[in-house]
Amino acid sequence: MSGVADCLFCKIVAGKMGTLTHQDDLVAAFEDINPQAPSHTLIVPREHIASLADLGGDHEALAGRLLATASRLAAQKKLKGYRVVINSGASAGQSVFHLHLHLLGGRPFHWPPG
Ligand code: 5GP
Ligand code: ZN
Repeated sequence: MSGVADCLFCKIVAGKMGTLTHQDDLVAAFEDINPQAPSHTLIVPREHIASLADLGGDHEALAGRLLATASRLAAQKKLKGYRVVINSGASAGQSVFHLHLHLLGGRPFHWPPG
C-alpha cells in the first residue's frame, strides 16, 4: 500500500481526514465533498495510482474490484439507474491525481456527457 505524502485521497484512505463508507484490502469509498448528483460516491484504490492511464496489466484484480464495488454500492444505495465515470487526465476533467471512480445516482443523466 504505497502512499504519497501530499496526496489528498491517500490521506482519506489512511483515515487522516474524512469518513470512509467502504473499505477492503484493495479499495475504499467515500462521499464526494462537492456532489454532482443526490448520490455521489468516490471509489479509489488504496494504493496510490495517479490515473487510469497508470493502471497496468498487473492491476487487473484491482480494476475488477473497483467496478464490482461500484455495482455493490449502487445496489446498497438502491440506485435505480446510475453512472460510473473515470476522468483520466486534466483535459478530461481529472483534478485529483489519485485514480477514482465517480458513482453518481439519484437523478437522470444525459448523453453525450459534457
Ligand atoms: P476529478 O475531477 O479528479 O474526476 O474528481 C475529483 C473529485 O474529488 C471531485 O468530484 C471533487 O469534488 C472531489 N474532492 C476534491 N477534494 C475532496 C475532498 O477533500 N474530499 C472529498 N470527499 N472529495 C473531494
Ligand atoms: Zn494517492
